[in-house]
Amino acid sequence: MEENQEKNMPKVILITGASRGIGREIAKLLSKNNIIIANYNKSEEKAKTLKLENANIDIYKADVSKREEVRNMIKYIIEKYGKIDVVINNAGIDQEKMFQDITDEDWHNIMENNLYSAFCVTQESLKNMLENKSGCIINISSIYGISGGSCAVGYSAAKAGMDGFTKALAKELGPSNIRVNSIAPGCINTDMNAYLTEADWDEIKEETPLGKIGEGIDIARCVDWLVKDEFTTGQVISINGGIVI
Ligand code: NAP
Repeated sequence: MEENQEKNMPKVILITGASRGIGREIAKLLSKNNIIIANYNKSEEKAKTLKLENANIDIYKADVSKREEVRNMIKYIIEKYGKIDVVINNAGIDQEKMFQDITDEDWHNIMENNLYSAFCVTQESLKNMLENKSGCIINISSIYGISGGSCAVGYSAAKAGMDGFTKALAKELGPSNIRVNSIAPGCINTDMNAYLTEADWDEIKEETPLGKIGEGIDIARCVDWLVKDEFTTGQVISINGGIVI
């Protein structure tokens, strides 16, 4: 196949945690030109409406913090679509707790859902990418991994870990033509921030040079660009309205 023809072919893209929030917006945007496997765990009804409304979206239920479930999901993708071109490690959970109140269970929970999940999904997908000598891995980290968040030590550590994972793996996989990057969002209007009050939102807007709160589509546009790009790897790109510079 001609090189240009191959570039224009739809890519097979797995997005973890795509039933809601940022992952859902990424799925909607990327489905215009690609085949999307939108992973979900608990929000089955939301995942079903995503599939119903978007022809190129397939959905798959898996808890990405469980190795066996991840393995079965990747097997399903390879059997049905023959390959996996792009993995977007987006699934994640929040944890607002004073450091002294964090239990061992809390710590393992935040690490498993935010960091171990990315390790598992990436590792299980990699065999196919290595065979194809092509791939793109995008990790959705956070500004908290860069600047730290008060009452979010576990979350910040997991997200900083994700950025370290990105940089190390980019070096290891560059020679195999597999790019690995992080996108570190600032404050985005999703369920994850549903606990914030009107006053909290106003304060965040005031601290943000662009004077507004981000939307899922702001992150999706950057993902779309990274999927098409060919010379960016090992980077942490922070989409945050300027709140962290
Ligand atoms: P959200 O609205 O709470 O959605 C989280 C998504 O992750 C849901 O689709 C959920 O699926 C999925 N998920 C969580 N644990 C999972 C698991 N074990 N297996 C499979 N899916 C799982 O959150 P969001 O704001 O869109 O956040 C998306 C990513 O961006 C997260 O990694 C988050 O840390 C990061 N981020 C968000 C912000 C922000 O301000 N919103 C800022 C920085 C970084 P189900 O509901 O189906 O279980």
